[in-house]
Amino acid sequence: MKITNFLIPTLREAPADADITSHQLMIRAGLVRQVASGIYTWLPLGLKVLRKVESIIREEMDAIGAQELLMPGVQPGELWEESGRWMDYGPELLRIKDRHDRPFCLGPTHEEIITSLARGELKSYKQLPCAFYQVQTKFRDEIRPRFGIMRAREFLMKDAYSFHIDTECLEQTYNQMYEAYCNIFDKVGLKYRAVIADTGNIGGSKSHEFHVLADSGEDRIAFSSDSDYAANVEMAPVIIEKQIAAPPSATMAKVATPNKHSIQDISAFLGIPEKQCLKTLIIKGTNEKVIALVLRGDHELNEIKVQKLATVAKPLQFASEKEIHELIGCGPGSIGPIGLKCEIIVDQDAAVLEDFTCGANESGYHLTGVNWNRDAELPQVSDLREVVVGDISPDKQGILEIKRGIEVGHIFQLGTKYSTAMKAQVLDKNGKSIAMTMGCYGLGVSRIVAASIEQSHDNKGIVWPESIAPFFCAIAPINMHKSPELSEKVRSLYATIVENGIDVLLYDKDDRMGAMLTNLELIGVPHILVIGERSLATGKVEYKSRRNSEKLEIDLNNVVSFLKEL
Ligand code: ATP
Ligand code: MG
Repeated sequence: MKITNFLIPTLREAPADADITSHQLMIRAGLVRQVASGIYTWLPLGLKVLRKVESIIREEMDAIGAQELLMPGVQPGELWEESGRWMDYGPELLRIKDRHDRPFCLGPTHEEIITSLARGELKSYKQLPCAFYQVQTKFRDEIRPRFGIMRAREFLMKDAYSFHIDTECLEQTYNQMYEAYCNIFDKVGLKYRAVIADTGNIGGSKSHEFHVLADSGEDRIAFSSDSDYAANVEMAPVIIEKQIAAPPSATMAKVATPNKHSIQDISAFLGIPEKQCLKTLIIKGTNEKVIALVLRGDHELNEIKVQKLATVAKPLQFASEKEIHELIGCGPGSIGPIGLKCEIIVDQDAAVLEDFTCGANESGYHLTGVNWNRDAELPQVSDLREVVVGDISPDKQGILEIKRGIEVGHIFQLGTKYSTAMKAQVLDKNGKSIAMTMGCYGLGVSRIVAASIEQSHDNKGIVWPESIAPFFCAIAPINMHKSPELSEKVRSLYATIVENGIDVLLYDKDDRMGAMLTNLELIGVPHILVIGERSLATGKVEYKSRRNSEKLEIDLNNVVSFLKEL
């Protein structure tokens, strides 16, 4: 490719709203341009990278026998009614109407379409197992599109779906997919971790996420110091160290805490550590009732765990300040479990606390020296909190560390959630109709590009892994436009490299050497060949590696074999 015929609009500065490195570099290197919030055009250079990622994915999907198909982006609302997700999915689903006023949506995922296909086309256990995949544009009306194409509203996903006669068979395909994902990330050159994950509104039982570790990641991953346990913080259960509270040593007393609302305020005002104060949160339950959740002041609520409790309304909803005043008669900062007349659920760690402080259910007052069983019966106990650094690892080997990760892939064992709801059945060996067991496997194709940059860059720009670099090498000629002889040499070198099937960019624009190298380093071409007047005399070109700044002199005649060796 000649740069004079290839749009690479590099920029010196990143736009003000680009707050993470990959976003800044994708704009500066001319890979993408924003059209609207979370909606982007992929420019030729960006698209080359995206296509390389796609082809690695296709290779691995094909290798495990998954069949490629292409489903529509526009999906009928009816199918989503059948699965029950038309109501459940919420405002991320972009709903539209056609000219006949029929409901449709722009697909955020394709379980409904593939299940409807499977129920039409798969009739017998003999056709199972089978798996289908597509590389396709998804639309999700994200509440906070950000980080460029990392959390976009329109993005490219590889999604795969598998169909089985039973869970055992699903387990096998799931493991194959898991391996294929590992191969994909290895080939793409990402450092990643597979972690135990929540199934969210996709549903199902077992699930793993694949994370690229990076400080800018939106997820937090809990790792064991001593074993290979790793889970999204959302999913990590708390293993408690202390089993029962010590006997009370203080008497309960009501103390005035005027204008003190937060745990920090109360702790500072009373001189009591935050971990000795309880906080009480009021959420909505099913049946229009409210539920009080009680946690230690230094712990954070884990919303995913709470949403799984039977009496809690889904999605999780907190009571408003007004509702709290009406129901309890005080502000949210003065609530406590003593004498509270609603369902109360206490976190495991709050349940083994003695002589604690909590709200008195009266504005401006708290209770100190409170003890369960003596001052109030201990209510239902559950694991409500997020794990913190230093907690015991859930596999009881070592302690937890927490790091940030970018989720690039997510695989699920769906079970029969969709096949039951949508009646996707096959005949089993005995001629009996049974719902197919399903798996689904998502991979953020466009997000992988951003994650790769996030993980591999320096102060000059992107440092692509060779497998997904937009070009393998570039020719940077010095003052070619002033010398017909050099121009001739450069063009013949370019032609030879192209003939050998190597993806090369010829920088034939009349830029100064400095500008040329700045641009090539910004866009991250792994291998650069500098050729100038001196090369004509010596018959050598200068080779520069993007990754390690290594420089070598190479014989003009040996360039192709040198590149091939690289
Ligand atoms: P997240 O927790 O980041 O919102 P998700 O659980 O909604 O992700 P899935 O439904 O599992 O994501 O989608 C499969 C993959 O698609 C994700 O692992 C991620 O790589 C990618 N993906 C999801 N949402 C977006 C988005 N808004 N922009 C770009 N890629 C996305
Ligand atoms: Mg999401």
